[in-house]
Amino acid sequence: MSPRYLVEHQSAQLESTLVRLGRGEHSVVFGGKSVVLIAGPCSVESLEQMMVVGQALKDLGISCLRGGAFKPRTSPYSFQGLGRQGLEILGKVRKEFGLLVITEVMSVKELWEAEPFVDCFQVGARNMQNFELLRALGRQEKPVILKRGFAATIDEFLMAAEYILTQGNGQVILCERGLRGFDPATRNILDLTAVPVLKERTHLPVIVDPSHGTGKRSLVLPASRAAVAIGADGLIVEAHPQPEKSISDAEQAIGFDELKTMTDELKRVAEAVGRDFNSPAVSGFNKNAEPEPAYSV
Ligand code: PEP
Ligand code: MN
Repeated sequence: MSPRYLVEHQSAQLESTLVRLGRGEHSVVFGGKSVVLIAGPCSVESLEQMMVVGQALKDLGISCLRGGAFKPRTSPYSFQGLGRQGLEILGKVRKEFGLLVITEVMSVKELWEAEPFVDCFQVGARNMQNFELLRALGRQEKPVILKRGFAATIDEFLMAAEYILTQGNGQVILCERGLRGFDPATRNILDLTAVPVLKERTHLPVIVDPSHGTGKRSLVLPASRAAVAIGADGLIVEAHPQPEKSISDAEQAIGFDELKTMTDELKRVAEAVGRDFNSPAVSGFNKNAEPEPAYSV
């Protein structure tokens, strides 16, 4: 039977689309054999903060940096992000350390403002069905990390991705970041079964956000181990030089010692399930690295 949607597997085989951040020597591939770690603070707070983050990531062999310049805050009185200044800081750190930068945009205007400074756009949970934004992201070439809304079904999530794909951009990474539950013991209920469910239904790479998924720093590492074990193609983790002083999402931010422990442990989990972790061969330190053939699950 032929597929009805672009997000679906186009043949009976469970093929995987490779999504590439950056170009050439410094590029990183999602959806191949290597599990890729993205790390950085919830919000860009200052150049000093981001230079410390950039150095730490470089030292740990992490090539993808996250950081919010436009923040979708529940309260209009909370810090809304540094905006343009935050983008310029991201641009400086990107250049200084050769990192690949991911940032959230909430509107078409923000998308074009951020474009020169970043390698990948993030659509947050609250904007999963911002259809005008999805269409605009589909009409440009940079990859998109699309987060699942906290009350979205898998079908709704996939149709949001379809909005981007129908406009011509197939470079979409899906991100499970937890669903709203009833129990304040965790910020959200991290739906890890969404990973294999999505792998069955779509060819797009699937990553997990254990930071928003749990809301507690002590749970970020255990949830990350489980995410890699269940088949995630990557993780997006909030890390900060002084986690408890983070301007936003302090309770879930981890420090760099813990990020180091995470890289060591996730490497072992990845190997146990037949994958590499942040592997130079596919994640960008090798000049001649081309995407590997599709990795089948
Ligand atoms: C974030 O990544 O900082 C964020 C706001 O995430 P989410 O959209 O998943 O809540
Ligand atoms: Mn956050």
